[in-house]
Amino acid sequence: MTDLPTASLDNMKKRYREERDRRLRADGEDQYVAIEPNSEFDADPYVHQVERREAISENVEVLVIGGGIAGLQTAVNLRRAEIDDFRIIEKGGDFGGTWYWNRYPGIACDVESYIYLPLIEDMGYMPKLRYSTGPEILDYCRSIAKHFSLYEKAILQTRVLEARWDATDCRWVVTSDRGDTFSARHLILANGALLHRPKLAGISGIETFEGHSFHSSRWDYSYTGGDPQGNLNGLRNKRVAIIGTGATAIQIVPHIAEAAKHLYVVQRTPSAVDVRNNSGTSPEWWSTLEPGWQRRRRANFEALLVGTPQTEDLVADQWTEIWGVPQPPPVADGVVPDPAAQRELADNYDFEQMERIRARVDEIVADPDTAESLKPYFTTHCKRPCFNDEYLQSFNRTNVTLIDTRGRGVDRISSSAIHVGDGSFEVDCIVYATGFEAAVSPARAGGFQIYGRDGVSLDERWRDGVKSLHGLYTHGFPNMFLVGAIRQSALTINFPFIVEEQARHVVEVIRLLRAEHMVTFELSEVAERRWALEIEEHSIYDEEMTQNCTPGFYNNEGDVTQQRPLFADVYGVGPDEYTELLAQWRASGMWSEFELGSASALSTQTVGHAVEFTQP
Ligand code: NDP
Repeated sequence: MTDLPTASLDNMKKRYREERDRRLRADGEDQYVAIEPNSEFDADPYVHQVERREAISENVEVLVIGGGIAGLQTAVNLRRAEIDDFRIIEKGGDFGGTWYWNRYPGIACDVESYIYLPLIEDMGYMPKLRYSTGPEILDYCRSIAKHFSLYEKAILQTRVLEARWDATDCRWVVTSDRGDTFSARHLILANGALLHRPKLAGISGIETFEGHSFHSSRWDYSYTGGDPQGNLNGLRNKRVAIIGTGATAIQIVPHIAEAAKHLYVVQRTPSAVDVRNNSGTSPEWWSTLEPGWQRRRRANFEALLVGTPQTEDLVADQWTEIWGVPQPPPVADGVVPDPAAQRELADNYDFEQMERIRARVDEIVADPDTAESLKPYFTTHCKRPCFNDEYLQSFNRTNVTLIDTRGRGVDRISSSAIHVGDGSFEVDCIVYATGFEAAVSPARAGGFQIYGRDGVSLDERWRDGVKSLHGLYTHGFPNMFLVGAIRQSALTINFPFIVEEQARHVVEVIRLLRAEHMVTFELSEVAERRWALEIEEHSIYDEEMTQNCTPGFYNNEGDVTQQRPLFADVYGVGPDEYTELLAQWRASGMWSEFELGSASALSTQTVGHAVEFTQP
């Protein structure tokens, strides 16, 4: 690392601040418009005919809501624990979750497939590429479902309407839009905790547009032609605008650019776009991997991202390059490292990384003004870094125009054009790559309400923030688990890793409760308070840094003072340590933090949330 003159770093911080201030809006998060379930923008483009069937009325031991990676991993663990009396309800037409909905051209996972794909050793699967394409991941999800006979458990194309705890029978009653009623002993919410519910920019006139438009997570191939590999022949004579330049748009743009008559890329804030450098998997290297390699590779990756010293960097890609925390020089025993010096080291490193990314724009983009517009001026942690070897190159094409709104966004949409400042751009099609609501409650994500003991809804209970233990259970909601939780859980960009551990843990807790003939259990409020304190003690949340970031969903669009942002309340020690903590808790503390009800109590109908306390 080079020693940077302090003046240039200070100047850059000033520039970052100016860029941020320019983007702040009084309406903050309210600038977005939610896409409501069953609305036009929410329609499932991948199901051409809704399968007709009779309404189902069923009692099961476990009901899993969601058939994405979290639901799949939960179901696999249920199979392994020989808890076979379960169902999975999924609103889409297949398994896959994120990878079911997001099928836009160019879709790929930006986390290395070797650590991303779940159950890879169990499945004996060698990914084709170091960074898998969306179709490969979707196919892989389906193959997991087939391998563990999960299709026979799945109720697809079915949207949950309500989940309600029945205190008399001590069961969850779940209803669906197909007239189904399920009664379940345990309810597992695996229905998309992080970025599931698409949103539109609140631009006036969206509804007046008479051309074709859709959200990136509902790609309309019947209009564009082609498939996730590209070849969008339906756009040959079309003028297309894509609104948004986040991680999704970065992957889409090269494919529309290749096909459309003209593409307008409407930018509010440029992304930091680093090298991808994808490659095929080497079978020779693959054959050298020893059992347990994926867990070790994942743990090593996570450790580097939270700054735990490692002797090697197994993944060694741009993630660990950009977000790897630089290690300060060792200090003598008994000497406390100087926090100001550590901060300076981190600032310098970050500045150096962003300078490298800005220099890359100049190397690739021919027109200097366009290149300047495409340079990101914020620190690496403000927005998700992107990795792509075709995006910036697209701006050298004559059929691609960057509309740099300099932080303001689109002003208005009319029947045939988008309007920015004095400019009007006639288009046939608008693609909204405007993202998703972030880490909303399971009720909000799924578009259904969850009522616990005494008819209290989960949203009411969590009005002032999530209250839980490990992000997985909450007081007042007996026999209910969350898998895929972010808030009060551990933070990772390799989501399937944490989900795999949560799913294994939750099913193990159910298995232990079963072994003790416990039919109800409910987390105590004391346990919730204990966990909140533990999170606070180990917090890595830097409010000042987050507040100073350019607006986006990482910092509640630039205002963290009203509401805790997405990553504020996470277990900061690291995801690997979080999973160890879950195992220790199962082995020791678990029984004292629940109020339990046994089967014998149930038979006399006296079981409530605290009938019988069992300490094995
Ligand atoms: P984002 O929320 O990251 O981006 C939304 C984009 O829309 C931003 O560029 C935003 O600008 C822009 N925008 C919003 N309102 C307006 C407006 N009024 N006018 C013009 N532009 C506007 O959504 P994405 O779908 O790109 O990404 C969401 C997340 O999905 C990522 O952060 C990542 O976690 C995940 N993802 C993961 C991938 C993977 O490989 N694993 C791939 C793709 C996505 P501004 O920045 O100014 O707010």
